[in-house]
Amino acid sequence: MGKGIRMLFARKKDDPNDKVYKIYELSTKDRGNLRCEHCVANITYVPEYPKKNGSVISAYLRLLPKISHSHDCPNDVDNAVRRIVAKSEAVEDIEPIFDRLSKHEHIFRMNILVKAHQNMLDLSQAKIKNNQGNQHRTEYIQSEHKIAPYFRSATGIARIRSILDNEEDNRKYLEKIIKIEHDSKIMKWNEFYYDDSRYNELYQLLINKKIKHPIALEVTPKGQFKESPNASLYKWNFQCYKQPDTENKAYIPRIYISNKDTLKKITPEKSHIVVGIPWLPKNTDNPIFKNINISVHSTSQVEMVFDIHND
Ligand SMILES: [Zn+2]
Repeated sequence: MGKGIRMLFARKKDDPNDKVYKIYELSTKDRGNLRCEHCVANITYVPEYPKKNGSVISAYLRLLPKISHSHDCPNDVDNAVRRIVAKSEAVEDIEPIFDRLSKHEHIFRMNILVKAHQNMLDLSQAKIKNNQGNQHRTEYIQSEHKIAPYFRSATGIARIRSILDNEEDNRKYLEKIIKIEHDSKIMKWNEFYYDDSRYNELYQLLINKKIKHPIALEVTPKGQFKESPNASLYKWNFQCYKQPDTENKAYIPRIYISNKDTLKKITPEKSHIVVGIPWLPKNTDNPIFKNINISVHSTSQVEMVFDIHND
């Protein structure tokens, strides 16, 4: 069974120029004629399709059944993971968030992300108090540089989870090669990663106050952001698409943003990973609309799932 991630680039087997085609230059007509951009693996085109909640899954490319990427292909799951780990290890002077177990297996240390999250909240508070005086601004930027790599590692591995070829085997494989450790115990990936089929579960955990660590929330921001110029901290927020059809209840994530630069990293109607600690609004009485909030203070907390400019 091939272990691949969804792709946005391909080569055509009958193209003498061996050009790399972008997803929007391809269609279902190219099926049978596509191979991986980086190796000879046969891949196929999956056209865009709407979800029940009104959001759209954009077109992508995936391995054909029983086909694998070459062992050094970047679209192989092992190599995609290794890239995230290598990026994280390349940052000097910070405590490593990945522990290497073997060539393919790593531990992701949630306790470090918990600490980074707390530091980030402290920084945000300090920023408001100090009203961004120049000296404090420099300190802020230095601290932000130390915190950001941890969030980039977390959004990175969560993003791989969301672009796996949609097969149970691949999920199990990712859970095997990246184990998440929290307070000396291995936690389930399901406790870290929530896509839009599990907002209801997340909501219930929040009602029962069970979430004590950052999670990765897959969301699709809807329409334009709202601005609250008088808010002391979260001046911008984005409503996201709800979970598709759940017992007449609408579970709706909302991203609260304190840092204006984050707006540039969010493309409405596209799927994103947000890493942070979710929270419920004060009033949870509405029988239908159930909001789940998540705060973003650093641009490193957000990553678009499929970004053709960065892949
Ligand atoms: Zn390949």
